[in-house]
Amino acid sequence: MAERGLLQRLESGSVICAEGYLFELERRGYLQAGAFVPEVVLDHPEVVSQLHREFLRAGTDVVEAFTYYGHREKLRLIGKEELLEPLQKNALHLARQAAEEFAEQDALVAGNICNTNVYEPGSAKSEAQVREMFDEQVAWAVEAGVDFVIAETLEFHGEAELALRAIRETGLPAVVTLAVHKPGLLRDEVGVAEACKRLEQEGASVVGLNCARGPATMLPLLAEIRLAVRCPVAALPVPYRTRPANPTFQSLADPDCGCLPPEGAFPTALDPFVCNRYELAEFAREATAMDVRYLGVCCGGAPHHVRAIAEALGRQPIASAYSPDMSKHYALGDDASLLEINTGYREDL
Ligand SMILES: [Zn+2]
Repeated sequence: MAERGLLQRLESGSVICAEGYLFELERRGYLQAGAFVPEVVLDHPEVVSQLHREFLRAGTDVVEAFTYYGHREKLRLIGKEELLEPLQKNALHLARQAAEEFAEQDALVAGNICNTNVYEPGSAKSEAQVREMFDEQVAWAVEAGVDFVIAETLEFHGEAELALRAIRETGLPAVVTLAVHKPGLLRDEVGVAEACKRLEQEGASVVGLNCARGPATMLPLLAEIRLAVRCPVAALPVPYRTRPANPTFQSLADPDCGCLPPEGAFPTALDPFVCNRYELAEFAREATAMDVRYLGVCCGGAPHHVRAIAEALGRQPIASAYSPDMSKHYALGDDASLLEINTGYREDL
């Protein structure tokens, strides 16, 4: 276990949690878009370890086990339910191993449970099924000695409650983050701030939002949540330029592209909408100004985004050794040794 726990750290400052493993490993060619099952955890564990390392170098305080969408329902969907336990256990092992490799950073290791896609409000049968899925995953996380458990990308308040109860029974701190789609409220029609308030009352240590929305369309909801709860608030947007007309990355449209697949830009053609690192730094500053302390990036996030958040919080993670220094650029720089033939050409680049 890490020396200082999650809650202790949040009392005196911010905590960064890098997410976005699914999209990043899909982009790198190790995971299939569609079912989005993290088989990479078993097929190419070295690639998952490397991404953990990159996020640690970029300044994450939390190594989240890559169990997102590695749950029973997803493995059933691809006909590989027998892989459930080895996948979950290996993901937890890889997270622990990465944290130990960077022992001087004293990173926290987090278990993860997420949207099951089998939750149906008002159905006792589905509630029981969902709860069972959460319980088995949380038990493996406890066995692996995680510092806390993240329940994320939950679109229904009811499902978030089930996730929270499963975590609370273990006695570990629970971070519960909700995904808010176009209508601006949860799919069982509970308002976002109200849902967070209830989750806090039921024992969540941290409540907030992840996924679906980019910085611009997540910030207004965060302001509502911050007013509604006393506990630390989490914000892990997707790094895409969402806007009021297209508040979620699923709803981003790219009329300039004539070769999109039938489903549109989401999820495999979002490249033109990616936020740059400076926009993530700006987001971190704005969130911090409203006392949102648990920060990260979700789907689409990459190490340079995480580093930008860390630096915006005044930190210098390992990867800051390679943060931009344009003074030595051959044409854009101002180093005295640069040739005028190049620096004088900058306007023509
Ligand atoms: Zn996401």
